[in-house]
Amino acid sequence: MNNNQYVYFFGDGKAEGSAQMKNLLGGKGANLAEMSNIGFPVPPGFTVTTEVCTYYYQNQKKYPEVLKKQVEDGVQKVESILGSKFTDPENPLLFSVRSGARLSMPGMMETVLNIGLTTKTIPGLIKKTNNERFVYDSYRRLISMYSDVVMEKAAGIEPEEGQGIRSQIERLLEGVKERRGYTNDTDLTAEDLKELTENMKIKVKDVLGKEFPDDPYGQLWGGISAVFQSWNGKRAVSYRRIEGIPGEWGTAVNVQAMVFGNTGEKSATGVAFTRDPGTGQNYFYGEWLINAQGEDVVAGIRTPYAVNLKSKQDNNRQFPSLEELFPKTYIELEGYRNKLEEHYRDMQDIEFTVEEGKLWMLQTRVGKRNGIAATRMAVEMQKEGLISKEEALSRVKPDQLDELLHPMVDPKAETVNHPIAKGLPAGPGGAVGKIVFTADMAEELGTKGEKVVLVRDETSPEDVHGMKPAQAILTSKGGMTSHAALVARGWGKCCIVGCGDLSIDMANKTACFGDKIYKEGDWISLNGTKGLIYEGQIPLVTIDPERNEYYKEILSWADEIRKLKVRTNADTPSDSAAAISFGAEGIGLCRTEHMFFGDRIWAMREMIMAEDIEGRKKALAKLLPMQRQDFYDILKVMQHRPVTIRLLDPPLHEFVPNEPESQKEMAERLGMSVEAVKQKVESLHEFNPMLGHRGCRLGVTYPEITEMQARAIIEAAAQCAVEGIEVNPEIMIPLTGTKTEFDNQKEVVDRVAKEVIAEKGVNVNYLVGTMIEIPRATLVADKIAEKAEFFSYGTNDLTQMTFGYSRDDAGKFLYDYYENKILPSDPFQTIDQEGVGQLIIMGVEKGRKTRPNLKIGICGEHGGDPESVKFCHRTGLDYVSCSPFRVPIARLAAAQAVIEESK
Ligand code: PEP
Ligand code: MG
Repeated sequence: MNNNQYVYFFGDGKAEGSAQMKNLLGGKGANLAEMSNIGFPVPPGFTVTTEVCTYYYQNQKKYPEVLKKQVEDGVQKVESILGSKFTDPENPLLFSVRSGARLSMPGMMETVLNIGLTTKTIPGLIKKTNNERFVYDSYRRLISMYSDVVMEKAAGIEPEEGQGIRSQIERLLEGVKERRGYTNDTDLTAEDLKELTENMKIKVKDVLGKEFPDDPYGQLWGGISAVFQSWNGKRAVSYRRIEGIPGEWGTAVNVQAMVFGNTGEKSATGVAFTRDPGTGQNYFYGEWLINAQGEDVVAGIRTPYAVNLKSKQDNNRQFPSLEELFPKTYIELEGYRNKLEEHYRDMQDIEFTVEEGKLWMLQTRVGKRNGIAATRMAVEMQKEGLISKEEALSRVKPDQLDELLHPMVDPKAETVNHPIAKGLPAGPGGAVGKIVFTADMAEELGTKGEKVVLVRDETSPEDVHGMKPAQAILTSKGGMTSHAALVARGWGKCCIVGCGDLSIDMANKTACFGDKIYKEGDWISLNGTKGLIYEGQIPLVTIDPERNEYYKEILSWADEIRKLKVRTNADTPSDSAAAISFGAEGIGLCRTEHMFFGDRIWAMREMIMAEDIEGRKKALAKLLPMQRQDFYDILKVMQHRPVTIRLLDPPLHEFVPNEPESQKEMAERLGMSVEAVKQKVESLHEFNPMLGHRGCRLGVTYPEITEMQARAIIEAAAQCAVEGIEVNPEIMIPLTGTKTEFDNQKEVVDRVAKEVIAEKGVNVNYLVGTMIEIPRATLVADKIAEKAEFFSYGTNDLTQMTFGYSRDDAGKFLYDYYENKILPSDPFQTIDQEGVGQLIIMGVEKGRKTRPNLKIGICGEHGGDPESVKFCHRTGLDYVSCSPFRVPIARLAAAQAVIEESK
């Protein structure tokens, strides 16, 4: 532990720390040090390190013994620079205390300003500044912040909604304003404020049972402890969980001399970004307020002014900008803005204060930005020569591209609404619609142009007709690979699944979110990117990525350097075409089972109901021309690009109805007795259908199904060949667990292909390969590769079977697993590298030992997850395959994998 140095000083053009020391000093502390080192006007102060936070929690909330002396030395250094003294009644110095972790956690932890104001130091400060109003304004802010942060929150007191000490104190302030007929806080006179602070202190004593502390060091240590306490406060803990920030990091505390933006009309405070964080445009963007302190700008009590003419918005156009009102200060500030961008080579978020005309820089940090801004800034900074292409590519989080691909809930509107429930974010973007509970209703209203959200416990292939016209799908059950999630993601449709707070009463057509009840027809809004559900209609904002030159440019750079190919999971010509426009280089998974719904379901059902092989063949003959057309259409769209078509995979019961009404209809259409239909459906019942009669097991029992599909594919390819279209079908056997299973099915495919090629007299290039989705297949991959010409990892099933978690039911308990730190994240979203990853690596090694050029890809949902894409790159896969809307995300992640590898 660092020579027991727990306190790092900064100010007066130098610092003990630097921007590189974020782990020890937190982001804020490291950047204050850096700004001091490069000669910016930073009020002097010191940072208490993150190690103290760790120590504090490991030692029953005690501090290292040497800390007291080090803090006092820090105070003295500041005193000697400024020529004032912390506890001095004649010439007092005041401090701010702010938290600062490694990564910024906006608003999650606490700040206390004006520490050091007491009944003894107040008269001295009034004399020194000749400004009584300012001193009492500062005092009322201290009482309000300190009683809230230190005396209430840090003490673990949890008041009822609206009964917190801060709210009670605010009400005293509002009372004075009302009685005096004031509109703004700035209208209060020195006398008003003096009286108010007395009443505030009485209120503190009444509510919290303690006197407001009247000793500077008592206040300072109270502030420092409150920051450390807030690291484990509820808000901070839940923020860390969402953002994946480890609790062990701890926070630092920054103690800094106060400079005052609230001394009068020549003082001000502001927050600015070196570029517009909403659009990414390269201009100085910011807000400020005259005669204000700290939080006033962001708190929304007063409408902030724009820093310059360019930043003016409709709500502040009538107010003067800093550029207009304090032109000299503005020029100085803009100079720092330019220097900061040059120095940090990234967009910075800064805080500044003007005290009686003197500009002070209080903070700089890398600014948060949305996806649109991130993309534009990255591209423009590369063109300006600030950063390399590699850095530009690393600056955009792959998931941020989602924002450019889907309409999203207006972020501004979202901040003023509270979600009524939360589920898993299965399909990104935003949606607004009326609640409907059945696919039929969704179809009926949706096709009429009404906006509906289909709300169900879960969906099945029979609901697809209602899912398509719905704006969004919301289910109470299911996980990230549930039917609803998979289908919605493929369409780029907003979808939330596994919403545990939702219970549906189908009889009364109501949905309960916690204790709130909604009827069919009530409006809700969904943020599918975050999994949040809101009451009513929240506005959406739409973006067209094709019109975004920055998006196109960054992806073209990604394509230049990535090694992984990116394919798509698609099973219609229109999805295939959409995927090509997103940059897909082939189809990695065409799920043929999706082709047996609609009218074709009857031929499929006839096949399933058939008594014998003859009956099945008769029904399959009806399906053949339909399948041939399906494949022909897709192959024609994809042209030379490889198209992996998977033979029928799901258990047959998924194609037959369970409800008596539908069974009756089926009996009539197929000329069977209702009893016979019922018996057949019952005979298809399995206890564990996911581990039952599905995948290649169907093909082994009913080779005629494999024959029909193989014939349809090869005939479609032959037709393309006749038309002069080069196509590359790849026929994929699902759910292979043994070499013999695979060989059995490959033999069927090859035999049929040979027949068709002979019949048609044209040559067709095709491959036969397999899904690797059963753990056993990875163990015997060397044997399977003797005949298999490609592998495609089905990581949905592979995860399901490796963990033994049902992919459709895991949502029920996974949340508890994250809560208890049993699992870091959803293994159905991000590959579990520790376990499932090992099987993948083993399969690759064994497969390529037999067949060095074996083509290997992945087609489970993980193919569009950035972390999993990076893993696939490192493991030496040839391609990833994901839903069309995730293709750009995978392209970027694949490029980032190359960049990260070279570091
Ligand atoms: C898989 O299991 O990963 C896969 C792609 O197949 P499906 O999701 O259709 O079972
Ligand atoms: Mg599978």
